Amino acid sequence: MTELASKKALVLFSGGQDSTVCLAWALARYGEVETVGFDYGQKHNVELECRLRLLGRIQALFPEWRSRLGPDHMLSLTELGQISETALTRNVEIEMDESGLPSTFVPGRNLLFFTYAAALGYRRGAHVLVGGMCETDYSGYPDCRADTLSALEQAIALGMDKPFCIEAPLMKIDKAATWKLAEELGGKPLVDLIIEESHSCYRGDRTRRHDWGYGCGICPACELRARGYDAFVAAEG
Ligand code: ZN
Repeated sequence: MTELASKKALVLFSGGQDSTVCLAWALARYGEVETVGFDYGQKHNVELECRLRLLGRIQALFPEWRSRLGPDHMLSLTELGQISETALTRNVEIEMDESGLPSTFVPGRNLLFFTYAAALGYRRGAHVLVGGMCETDYSGYPDCRADTLSALEQAIALGMDKPFCIEAPLMKIDKAATWKLAEELGGKPLVDLIIEESHSCYRGDRTRRHDWGYGCGICPACELRARGYDAFVAAEG
């Protein structure tokens, strides 16, 4: 058994494109993988509904990953939604605020997610925490930056006195490269699954189907996903 195959990973799995690619990345790498999702009072529960369908489809489509995929966990963090005036948890327009951050920014979200994941991982013996944060083409969320996650990893390892490690395989790549990574990990079946079942749209729209999947087509998350997909398809020739 390789060193990685002997490790257990816990993937922050929201049902979006990025966390689905991260889940595939972890399944290709670690011997045991569990998933955790957070209900923080999102306006649209579409992503959370997509999670279970995605997990079921991954088990059906990829027999070699089926035995590695362990239990899914769902944690309630609804207080986060109560204290956040954001476009993801309230009926607020998606726009930039005076600090230059979009109104979709939920302050402290990833700090809390990883800390909760570590508390769960401590009990489950999963000391690798995997998240889909990306600092290249995202909206500049300060809790998605490599520096933030590196400091958090250190704080968690010290505070729990366990060798926790945070992996963010998408940190340095753009959305086109994320589609490419999906193809490398699971071929066309994984790309098709992400198109069909993962959800990124901030408006929770699953009535409109595009080449790249479902969404309103105009919110920042849809724009990013569409642009990345177009670049991925163009590069494939
Ligand atoms: Zn959208």
